[in-house]
Amino acid sequence: MLTDRTPDQAVTTHPAVVRAVLRLAREAGGRPRVADSPANVVKIEQVWEKTGFAALCAEEGVELVNLEKAGSKRFEVDGFAFQIARPALEADVLINCPKVKTHTLTILTGAVKNLCGTAPGFLKTNFHKLYPRLAEFGRLLAAIYKTVPPALSVADGVWGMEGEGPAGGGPIRLGFLAAFADAVALDLVLCDLLRVPRRAAPYLRPFLSRYTAPVPTVGESPLGLAPPKFRAPGILRGQLIPGPLARLLGPLIWIRPRIMEHCAACGRCARSCPTGALSQEPGRPPRLHPAECVGCCCCHEICPEKAIRMIQSRLLTLVKGKEIG
Ligand code: SF4
Ligand code: SF4
Repeated sequence: MLTDRTPDQAVTTHPAVVRAVLRLAREAGGRPRVADSPANVVKIEQVWEKTGFAALCAEEGVELVNLEKAGSKRFEVDGFAFQIARPALEADVLINCPKVKTHTLTILTGAVKNLCGTAPGFLKTNFHKLYPRLAEFGRLLAAIYKTVPPALSVADGVWGMEGEGPAGGGPIRLGFLAAFADAVALDLVLCDLLRVPRRAAPYLRPFLSRYTAPVPTVGESPLGLAPPKFRAPGILRGQLIPGPLARLLGPLIWIRPRIMEHCAACGRCARSCPTGALSQEPGRPPRLHPAECVGCCCCHEICPEKAIRMIQSRLLTLVKGKEIG
């Protein structure tokens, strides 16, 4: 439930998919609850309402848990410190229901990255400030996944998102659901299916050496489900530029937001920025202070008007195309 968008926009997992999972969990003898921590600039009740999860849970008689208020526990894993909401830790069985989407920063967002929703929103925003390098951020996501590994992931690819995801892209009919006990394996299959190189998703890289054999699948062949065309994000920030080279080229490789003319001056982007790189006078579009920007895309993914375009430095544009696709 990234933010307050209706299900048809393919930004959030469709409630119909979660409804089916809830009913199956009940049939299996479980007492399901629904929980997630969206981005923290919109009231969570507003997110529940718009995404259809408030109605879904009322209809199904299921509790909708506010992870911002349920308490959390601190972890230190692989050198990263983070908090995980207690309901996610205390559940007997954690079922992960991601939407299949592109992501302007991490290329893909599927099962592994979705676990970030177990970290309370107000603390999550800081991750980008603490770990601004993409490879580092990817390892943090991998560490969160290892801390709260789901028993099952059910990915909603009935309608996915292509282009400038996770909120600024367009819906694309993919026509599948994909489920797996192993979230990494599921994401690898999604990469293959969408023709996204596996190494392009920074949170999958820490696992790649362990997944050299083909992922076993049942049901329809995943490759047969591949859409004829699928638009990866246009921004490919040094996806695979090696760390030492990235440090050397430092100021020459960046991505930043550009505020478009149709900005409604709502202020969400400025409030979502973890580094204070956007300032705003009342009623005016925000202004970017480039030196403060870490290129995290938080502003881009929260804009309700799709009024932020992420742009990249000329050097990145030159390497784009050689890195992916
Ligand atoms: S760019 Fe988007 S989020 Fe930022 S103020 Fe304008 S409309 Fe709001
Ligand atoms: S301006 Fe946008 S991309 Fe830059 S640090 Fe702030 S939220 Fe991230």
